[in-house]
Amino acid sequence: MRTVAVVGGSLGGLRTAETLRSAGWTESVVVIGSEADMPYTRPPLSKKILSDGGTFDNVRLRPRLADDDVDWRLGVSVAKADLAERRLYLSDGQVVEFDALVAATGVAPRTLPVSGPDAGRHTLRTLDDARAVHRELGPDRRVVVIGAGFIGCEVAAAARAKGCEVDVVCADEVAMLRPLGREVGQAIQRSHAAAGIRFHSRRTVQRYVGTDRASGVVLDDGLHLTADVVVEAVGSAPNVKWLEGNGLDTTDGVICDSWLRMGGVAATAAVGDVARFPNTLFDAVPRRFEHWQMAVDTARQAARTIMHDLSEAPAPLSAFEPLPSFWSDQGTVRVDSFGSPGIADSFAVLEGDLSGGCAVGYYRAGRPVGVVLICMPRRSGHYRTWIAEQLY
Ligand SMILES: Cc1cc2nc3c(=O)[nH]c(=O)nc-3n(C[C@H](O)[C@H](O)[C@H](O)COP(=O)(O)OP(=O)(O)OC[C@H]3O[C@@H](n4cnc5c(N)ncnc54)[C@H](O)[C@@H]3O)c2cc1C
Repeated sequence: MRTVAVVGGSLGGLRTAETLRSAGWTESVVVIGSEADMPYTRPPLSKKILSDGGTFDNVRLRPRLADDDVDWRLGVSVAKADLAERRLYLSDGQVVEFDALVAATGVAPRTLPVSGPDAGRHTLRTLDDARAVHRELGPDRRVVVIGAGFIGCEVAAAARAKGCEVDVVCADEVAMLRPLGREVGQAIQRSHAAAGIRFHSRRTVQRYVGTDRASGVVLDDGLHLTADVVVEAVGSAPNVKWLEGNGLDTTDGVICDSWLRMGGVAATAAVGDVARFPNTLFDAVPRRFEHWQMAVDTARQAARTIMHDLSEAPAPLSAFEPLPSFWSDQGTVRVDSFGSPGIADSFAVLEGDLSGGCAVGYYRAGRPVGVVLICMPRRSGHYRTWIAEQLY
């Protein structure tokens, strides 16, 4: 009996196991995940769970698997993989031998390298993180959010909706500058400012104030922001340490070939947030995507790649060219994105205007590479088709 080992028991890991089974893999599948819970979905953590609190049942992903389809090993981490020996060494001393390996270990939130008390400082990746932030929010609580990317803006909007006083510290000129560009970022930031969120742009944190608990933040221009709670939303680092020592490039996620094989090694694959791969829809540059739908799309491809590589008479693999997409709910602001707006060099408003709902096309060297909708979710089907027609 051969074994496919999947490391990471969340969205990407679950969808990989499901696709292996639905595609006819009848041999063993082991999923090893460091979180003790069965797989759950993360997008509600910075939205509904912050607003209303919630239980595991509100976020759990219901596996499309029979009970004995997968050997789940949860609450234990893989400390090291040996690709040559085809073995995994687990943190509890277990050794798992595999014939094929899928990395689905996602990312961990970065923290600011600024000294100060730990209490009152939060990051947001797990259900426990979200519950801890939820408990801190309420009318007139002073919340400082560090970082104005998607998660930072979602946290700020959720906190403001609960009556908090909210300051956002942003190292860039405007919120979401890198993924959406200056003008669109500015338009979204204006909506948040109109709701009462204060932005401190081009500012960084110099130090935290407080002895037992963070009670404020001092910025590089000397401004002191008082805080009951601080949320650091300053990006993430791929969970790749366990893969080190195998000659793979793990500088920002694990570099894969066009079919998601790690370093091109047969019968291995990476999926979801940890995978960096070239997408010939755009160019040959390997990129990572921290998008819910990409975890699903890469999981399906990884299962196909593994089954191909373990097959005795494989049919050729077709090209893997997924259309990246994500959404973000930031209070009254809804963002839907298709394609890769972050690689564009110009943009044009296609419908509506930047002061209200709009659809914005993104272009590189004159060719459409993405489209972003602000507060126009009903038009997402139309624009998804439009950009797909341009790209495929
Ligand atoms: C707060 C929040 C809000 C989000 N909102 C949106 C949104 O609105 N729209 C959108 O498109 N996307 C959103 N995302 C992104 C989306 O949730 C991710 O893209 C998706 O979760 C990626 O799935 P994954 O399986 O690759 O990684 P993860 O979900 O990170 O799962 C990786 C799993 O691997 C485990 N693991 C790590 N290292 C090891 C190890 N050595 N051994 C064993 N297990 C290990 C981790 O504990 C974790 O359980 C959001 C993410 C967060 C955190």
